[in-house]
Amino acid sequence: MAAEPLAVVVTCEHAGNELPIEWTHLFDSPEARDALQSHRGWDIGALDMAGMIARRLSAPLLAWPVSRLLIESNRSLDAPDLFSSFSRGLSDTERAVLVERYYRPYRSSIERLITAMVAMGHRVLHLAVHSCTDELNGVKRELELGLLFDPARLFEVEITGDIRGWFDRHAADYRVRFNEPYLGTDDGLTSFLRTCFPDRAYAGIELEFRQGFLSNPTEAAALAQATATAIEQLRTGLRAA
Ligand SMILES: [Zn+2]
Repeated sequence: MAAEPLAVVVTCEHAGNELPIEWTHLFDSPEARDALQSHRGWDIGALDMAGMIARRLSAPLLAWPVSRLLIESNRSLDAPDLFSSFSRGLSDTERAVLVERYYRPYRSSIERLITAMVAMGHRVLHLAVHSCTDELNGVKRELELGLLFDPARLFEVEITGDIRGWFDRHAADYRVRFNEPYLGTDDGLTSFLRTCFPDRAYAGIELEFRQGFLSNPTEAAALAQATATAIEQLRTGLRAA
């Protein structure tokens, strides 16, 4: 493995369900208010996990507090679900305002930080922290942690293999799965950043934590601790390589 030091960046695209005051009128209906409070509006529990992992690793954390129902920061600009059913009816001008005021500054800040780290000679491990519902369409999700990555990127394959290997040896009660409940190659921030940086310089891993597990703060803290320990060990190993 290469000898460049590993730098960790933690992000949280669905950290909150906040709405800037000028857009609250889009969410006046009971249906919209319910959606905002649900998983449709944000990733419940994800910000706490991201914060605990970032603190433990002394890594920078960039989190986005605005609800994805206003504009989805984890989608490409041409994605059909960049805007939700509540914001899709806005005029082209209003949509452009959302892109320039919210979407672009957040995405650019992450891209700039990683660009600077790569320029300094680091290999960057970007952990994008999310949470998923316990079941979808009646099917239970059999995991506590999903590691989403691109199987065609060697650096990501190595890192996720090492993380799951650590869990297998030290914390086998947690069900850690590869590319569940989504594929790491689906449209998203990490998929975009892979187009900006070569395989050996950038690994974009999405961590999907199951929300039911996170509902117990003690259990959630233990899982965050375990995840950070798995990554810390990997970082030490890479430094020593
Ligand atoms: Zn998410």
